Amino acid sequence: MKAAVYEGPRTVTVKDVPDAKVEHPGDILVKITTANICGSDLHMYEGRTSFETGRTLGHENLGQVVEVGKAVSKVKVGDWVVLPFNIACGFCKQCEQGLTNYCLTMQPQPDMAGAAYGFAEMGPYQGGQAELLRVPYGDFNALRLGEDAPERQLDYVMLADIFPTGYHATEMAGVKPGDQTLVYGAGPVGLMAAYSAILRGAGRVWVADHQPDRLRLAEEIGAIAINTAEQDPAEVVKEATLGLGADNGCECVGYQAHDPQGNEDATLTMNGLIDSVRFTGGIGVVGVFLPEDPGGDEAQGGLEAQGKVPLDFGLLWFKGQHIGTGQAPVKRYNRALRDLIAGGKAEPSFLVSHELSLDEASAAYEHFDNRDDGWTKVVLHPDGRSRRASTAKRGSRSVGGSSHPTVQELRREA
Ligand SMILES: [Zn+2]
Ligand SMILES: [Zn+2]
Repeated sequence: MKAAVYEGPRTVTVKDVPDAKVEHPGDILVKITTANICGSDLHMYEGRTSFETGRTLGHENLGQVVEVGKAVSKVKVGDWVVLPFNIACGFCKQCEQGLTNYCLTMQPQPDMAGAAYGFAEMGPYQGGQAELLRVPYGDFNALRLGEDAPERQLDYVMLADIFPTGYHATEMAGVKPGDQTLVYGAGPVGLMAAYSAILRGAGRVWVADHQPDRLRLAEEIGAIAINTAEQDPAEVVKEATLGLGADNGCECVGYQAHDPQGNEDATLTMNGLIDSVRFTGGIGVVGVFLPEDPGGDEAQGGLEAQGKVPLDFGLLWFKGQHIGTGQAPVKRYNRALRDLIAGGKAEPSFLVSHELSLDEASAAYEHFDNRDDGWTKVVLHPDGRSRRASTAKRGSRSVGGSSHPTVQELRREA
């Protein structure tokens, strides 16, 4: 089968690799029709992680089941499924509490938790930027989709990661109806956090970034754009809130945060949020931070290389703020968010800028990594077919602004 293989910093090649197959009775085999490139793939692409050469990337995957293991009873061949990027067993101490993001048994390293497809330090699993994907414990991990799945893949594929991840940021931050929320980062996850905050009834949502094309999308969904090349988010937010600050904030950038001139500063977003959020406010951090950064700047005494971020902790404590961190437990949210899509209340495909065949993965990585203008979210189709004509761009992009009478077509699950 063909797959997008990591071959070293800034080198992804599409080549033939051995076919994925059912290896365990609980596995399912999925023919991938839609696989996204994620911002977190770029950390690996740039050689800023321990990701091994020769491995296949891709943790945002959707497709059709082509084979099931002997122990699989719910999922059937022919089902359309979207796979949470977290790979979880369903029976460990963490999974029993819904913490599928920190599953203990799918991660082979004894002092680690959590597994994912095609991801550094998240187990040996291959990614889905390929023609086939092996999905462990298919009954537990696969979310089945309704009859509208083939036509609406660009919406449903966002359930693999970025929609639940953005939603998780707002959950950890405690966004409530009427809240005023500041989101740092207008990349796909930041936009999904802003979109989720609006879905949750936030009164006002600001999105801070310095990329004009991304800020335009933020404005299209009803958020207020703050261009950090021109304005300080803390000043903007305080001025609009009688000096109090935002009720809550979402960090959707991560350790490779940089100023408009391109200088990396891992403290930029966190300290910006501590400054911008009011006393006792919440901050949800879903941007990636790592315990080690092989490409970290040695100039600051090697702090970045050791995964250390000098936080304004005194101010955080003084303001009585609380922070939630880490990867999203996708399964906690994906079923409800699927039904918002099916019911026409959410249309996360608004951020897809490019649909390409798998063969075009090398160029896609290059453009996305360069933050080339307009390359906000790239979707690969290993079966070579585009869904753009029948999915996104159907007019209104506002939350709940369109209606698709497909909710009754959903295959309801107990
Ligand atoms: Zn992702
Ligand atoms: Zn588990």
